[in-house]
Amino acid sequence: MKRYDQHMHTHFSPDSEETLANYLKISQGTLVTTEHLDFHDFYNNEQDTVLDYDAYSATIAQLEATSGRRIRKGLEVGFTVESKEKILAYLEGKEFDVLLLSVHQNGRYDYLQPVVKKKEVRQVMHEYFGLLLIAIQHFPQANILSHFDYGIRLFDVTLEEFQKHKTVLTAILKRMKTNKIALELNTRSMYEYGNVALYEQMIEWYVTMGGQRFSIGSDAHSVAHYGFHFKDAIALLKKHCVTKIAVYDQQHAIFKPI
Ligand SMILES: [Zn+2]
Ligand SMILES: [Zn+2]
Repeated sequence: MKRYDQHMHTHFSPDSEETLANYLKISQGTLVTTEHLDFHDFYNNEQDTVLDYDAYSATIAQLEATSGRRIRKGLEVGFTVESKEKILAYLEGKEFDVLLLSVHQNGRYDYLQPVVKKKEVRQVMHEYFGLLLIAIQHFPQANILSHFDYGIRLFDVTLEEFQKHKTVLTAILKRMKTNKIALELNTRSMYEYGNVALYEQMIEWYVTMGGQRFSIGSDAHSVAHYGFHFKDAIALLKKHCVTKIAVYDQQHAIFKPI
C-alpha cells in the first residue's frame, strides 16, 4: 500500500517550516497533516500554540483546486486538564478529519525539556502514564493516541522497567478500546528514540484484549522524515497478526489493508 502517514507537521505548526506543497510532491494519494494545538506551550515561550484554522483551510482549498481532494485535516491536541475547556472551545464549529491526542507536558515542563533527565525514570513513568490515562478519560472524542512514550523519550527504558507499569498501561488501552481510539505506532519514537520493544509490548497487550485499531505516524516535521521506517512498523504489526490500519475521514474510521 501507499504510505499512509497519519502524523506529520507543516509550517502551520511552530516547530516546522515545511510546506504542504512539498509533502504533496513527495507523496501519492491521501496526505494527512496533523498540526499542533498546545495551550501554555513550553516550546513556544509558554504561549498558546493555536493553529490558524482559517489560513490552514484556505491553503488546503487552494492546493486542492489543482490536486483534487488529497488532503485530510488533522489536529494534534496537546492535552492537559487545565486546558480542556480551551481545547473544546477551539474545536467548536471547526471540521477536522482526524484528532490525535497527545500529552506533551505536566503544566510545569514539557517532557523533552532537559529538567526531565534529572528525575528518576520510575517516577517519570508513574506520572506520565497517569496523565495519559486522565487524558483518555477526559477526551473520548480523540481518534488516535499519539506517542504513548513521549514522556520517556529522554530515557533508555528497558522492557522490564516498562512492564512494571502494566496496570496503568492496560487501563489506558482498555479505555481506548471502549472509546474506539487507535494506538499510534510513532515511527520516530520507535526507530529514532529506540522504543520499538515498548511499542511491541503495547501492540501485544492491545491485541490480546481485542483492540483492533492501529495507526502509523512518522511525526515528520519535514519531508525528510515522511513515512519514516514504515516498512518496519508494518512488519511489526503483521508479526502480531494485525492486517489493517485505521485511517480517518471526517473522523470516521476506514480500515485499510497493510
Ligand atoms: Zn507530539
Ligand atoms: Zn506531532
